[in-house]
Amino acid sequence: MPDEITAESRIRQEIERRKDAFTYLALGICIMVVALIFLAIFAWSGDIPTMAGSFVVVLLGLFLYNKGHQGRVQVRALEYQLSAMGKAPGQASASVPPSTKFCKHCGKVVAKDSSFCEHCGRGL
Ligand SMILES: [Zn+2]
Repeated sequence: MPDEITAESRIRQEIERRKDAFTYLALGICIMVVALIFLAIFAWSGDIPTMAGSFVVVLLGLFLYNKGHQGRVQVRALEYQLSAMGKAPGQASASVPPSTKFCKHCGKVVAKDSSFCEHCGRGL
């Protein structure tokens, strides 16, 4: 199945490309915390221009955090897609989908709404 392999490697590449979102996230939080501390110090000393400057830095941190958060959500979605891909073949053989049932004569899986077994031919 070459299609599935390329789809999987494409998703892995997408994840790698978005991994720097975690850096943005951490950086954004650090900048916000530091800028908020400075903002509080400057507010206490009544230094209005520097306070405004710190506020801009807080917004910059918030922007980075938001950028990182969006990237992290995309990485989670891609990782979920990847795990669903890996599980799909195993799940199909391990469990019975809800639209199927077992034949009471031969025990094989048949469609739920069928009135006879496609394996042994007997009525259900
Ligand atoms: Zn049967």
